Amino acid sequence: MGTAPEQSVIVVGAGPTGLALACELAAAGVSCTVLERRLKTSTQSRAMGLYSRTMEVLDLRGHADALVALGRPVSRMVPARDAAVDFAELDTRFPYLNVVPQSRTEEVLQQRALDLGVAIERDAEVHGLEQDASGVTLQVRTGTGEWAESADFVVGCDGAHSAVRELSGIAFRGRTYEIAPILADVRLSKPPPDDVLMVTGNGGIMVSVPYGDGVYRLAVARRDRPWTREPVTLEELSELLTRSLGFDPQPYDPTWLARFKIHQRIADQYRTGRVLLAGDAAHLHSPLGGQGLNLGIQDAVNLGWKLAAEVQGWAPTGLLDSYETERRPQAERILRATDRATQLATTPSAALTALRRTVFAKALSRRRVRRFAAASVSGLRAGYGRRGVGGPRLRAGQRVPDLTLPRTDDAPVRLYELMRDGRFVLLDLADDGRAALLTQAWGSRVSPVRVDGGIPELAGVSTLLVRPDGYAAWVDGEADPGGRDERVRTALHRWCGVEGPAPARREDRVAEATAPPEAGPRTGSASGSGAGSGSASGSGSGTESEGEQQPAPSTEEG
Ligand SMILES: Cc1cc2nc3c(=O)[nH]c(=O)nc-3n(C[C@H](O)[C@H](O)[C@H](O)COP(=O)(O)OP(=O)(O)OC[C@H]3O[C@@H](n4cnc5c(N)ncnc54)[C@H](O)[C@@H]3O)c2cc1C
Repeated sequence: MGTAPEQSVIVVGAGPTGLALACELAAAGVSCTVLERRLKTSTQSRAMGLYSRTMEVLDLRGHADALVALGRPVSRMVPARDAAVDFAELDTRFPYLNVVPQSRTEEVLQQRALDLGVAIERDAEVHGLEQDASGVTLQVRTGTGEWAESADFVVGCDGAHSAVRELSGIAFRGRTYEIAPILADVRLSKPPPDDVLMVTGNGGIMVSVPYGDGVYRLAVARRDRPWTREPVTLEELSELLTRSLGFDPQPYDPTWLARFKIHQRIADQYRTGRVLLAGDAAHLHSPLGGQGLNLGIQDAVNLGWKLAAEVQGWAPTGLLDSYETERRPQAERILRATDRATQLATTPSAALTALRRTVFAKALSRRRVRRFAAASVSGLRAGYGRRGVGGPRLRAGQRVPDLTLPRTDDAPVRLYELMRDGRFVLLDLADDGRAALLTQAWGSRVSPVRVDGGIPELAGVSTLLVRPDGYAAWVDGEADPGGRDERVRTALHRWCGVEGPAPARREDRVAEATAPPEAGPRTGSASGSGAGSGSASGSGSGTESEGEQQPAPSTEEG
């Protein structure tokens, strides 16, 4: 490539994953441009809701309240007759599925990204990519011309048909299902109950989600109704709904009727050199259970601070690679679960359908199972650590709840409010406050908080280092106060890099290294340098509708 890249990170794709990632990078102080092929934000609303953990990670950066205002809380999911999963039983600020159309979620994230200073370039389709040891150059075309743009890192958040993935030679293995769901946003003359309702049987499944204002999102799939290019009509929808529900709910006023192919695929790698993948570009699965967008936002929140650390020059060795080691298993788990659910829900066997109903009803009549199911579906159980025996209840790698912290030197505060700027937070629960003092050597990378005890969730904990994505990096028990200073330093090294002031910002380093004294700031994207090493049609849309040497960070107990 020769010359220094023009910017730190280019995110390809302004879907929910790309926008969430751009917000994360910008919050961490990393310059970033989003390239999006579409001229305008999408009005398509594939995903219809945000689960509790997604709302929580959005709350970490202050994006959640706007989405609460736009959404509709639905607290029950009814996967079979006489069986309900109740999100209201969850211990979170968001004990519900926040039903909000994907297009609105994208609007909120786009506004947040713009407010944080992200440049979003529309009508910019990436069709060529070349990388070397110093950066990545993209070939970009618009309706009026073509240019090259370079960055230290590129993240492909460009959906199911990812050009970034293809141009990087990363395989996307898996299969396409024979069933092809119909999706409809309609009003109903005879509506079902206001829960997330799933009705299965006779080789078909119907899911209904109330948007409010009398509008319902319906998805219907049947084994005997494979993919076709024929447009969906209200008559076809009525017929399929009647077969599932046993009555015709009489749909009318459709704002969206579409037929989808669904896939189960995962990228062979989430990273090759300076190119990374996130969201649908990295994994695709059956929409049953509504997890895709949620998974993409969680990818973005996991990747954002790690990539920022790499770009800012303080990332411990292995931190960026931990994005794939942590996120791939989460995607694989969802792929397996949604595949099993899709197979079972659309089985033509009446006996299996009856058995499924009985098992669900029996299992979900038990409170513990209901809570477990709600916590799993909502993402609150997911984490990155090993489960263990003994020691504090909260383990490294687990989600840290939004605790209200009684501070020794200030008014109580919500933990998630302390995390808006994307830094690590160290909670020091010991009387001497030494751990909090030690963080000073890591400058602005860590926010120390001295906490008065008495928080049940932190029973047995003397020090807790919280990652910028709201998971526990390191937990120290109070059982062994000897050597605590050393343990705190080791944990900070391991997660936050070498102590000392934060390295110079990339822009400053590049300016020092390359610019003549009188040179001004970067002048936009049209550099005309470099050439793409490949090309991609890029014409598909999302899912088809037509520092220091250290061991790699891992979540560990103190
Ligand atoms: C029928 C259906 C129902 C669904 N329901 C749910 C649900 O209820 N809940 C849920 O969580 N998920 C659901 N999903 C999945 C969800 O819609 C996706 O997981 C989500 O959109 C993925 O977001 P993304 O940002 O990774 O990709 P996308 O939303 O696909 O965004 C990718 C962006 O990249 C742009 N782009 C593509 N190629 C290029 C290029 N070469 N250059 C520049 N830009 C490019 C595209 O224009 C697009 O804006 C559903 C999916 C389907 C199909």
